[in-house]
Amino acid sequence: MPMPLHPFVLHRPDSAEEVIELRSALGEDAALYAGGTELLSAMKMGAISYEHLIDVKRVPGLREIFDQDGSVHIGATATHHEIENHPVVVDRLPSLAKLTHSVANVRVRVAGTIAGNLAFGEPHADPPALLMALGGTVVVQGAKGRRSMDIAEFCVGAYETGLREDELIVEVDVPIPPPGSVATYMKFQVLERPSVGVACLGEIHDGRFTSPPRLVIGAVDEVPRLVDAAAIDGADIQDEAGMGAVCDAASRAVDPTDDLSGSADYKRHLVGVLARRVLRKLAGEP
Ligand SMILES: Cc1cc2nc3c(=O)[nH]c(=O)nc-3n(C[C@H](O)[C@H](O)[C@H](O)COP(=O)(O)OP(=O)(O)OC[C@H]3O[C@@H](n4cnc5c(N)ncnc54)[C@H](O)[C@@H]3O)c2cc1C
Repeated sequence: MPMPLHPFVLHRPDSAEEVIELRSALGEDAALYAGGTELLSAMKMGAISYEHLIDVKRVPGLREIFDQDGSVHIGATATHHEIENHPVVVDRLPSLAKLTHSVANVRVRVAGTIAGNLAFGEPHADPPALLMALGGTVVVQGAKGRRSMDIAEFCVGAYETGLREDELIVEVDVPIPPPGSVATYMKFQVLERPSVGVACLGEIHDGRFTSPPRLVIGAVDEVPRLVDAAAIDGADIQDEAGMGAVCDAASRAVDPTDDLSGSADYKRHLVGVLARRVLRKLAGEP
């Protein structure tokens, strides 16, 4: 049941350094705040409470999207709406543009940011699986400077990330897939958020991957799972036995539990179905 918000002090720093100083000084009494689509809802539900919110949206330089040195750099405070419509993302990472368009509804996409999505650590999220398949990294800044984490390092568990207390996300970097390779993402959803999401980056010729694919299952376990490439690399997906082996490997990569999104067996089955569809798409089927 939503409740009136507990009073809090809103800080509006002008630089990442100021955010870090505030974060270090205020410790557990403070949270970063971007679009507020998760944070304020959780506060209204009484699930969490903070004395101080540090607004990162106005910090200059954290919102840009550009391509440089073979990667697309997405500023932490770029919203889903900005990402899905940005010409660099549409051109260089069409799979991410399409995924982002499928996140939530337009009201959430206009306010919600990529950093907020990742930092909240909600297991039923879309971006982490595709970012893992694409080899994306999360760039964070803290009192000791900047560091990068890949998605496996960043996504630690349900509502748990590799962020340290003084750090903020400043950017998400996504390598542009090599020529010839294709990335795709598909999900199945019955509730507000995905029940299962399957992402893959790979290149298929005559039914076989020409390089080790990165097939990732998201939204099922607490963190996205990379399917063992050795189990799928040599498989001929034009052949039913080969395709079946890949789908089995995908289903084995997760350890689902029964919940409102479905039973464990049902989710495992969905993983196989979506993996098959993703691979067919990569192979050029409409
Ligand atoms: C109705 C609804 C439907 C949704 N459906 C989907 C869906 O289908 N798929 C999906 O993937 N997601 C879905 N979401 C989640 C949505 O993507 C997130 O709510 C949004 O991206 C969060 O961004 P925000 O800027 O609002 O974060 P906030 O709510 O402001 O913050 C969320 C968390 O991130 C932290 N944070 C924010 N910015 C930073 C930063 N720069 N560095 C470090 N920590 C930071 C905050 O401290 C907080 O812990 C849905 C959400 C809602 C409300």
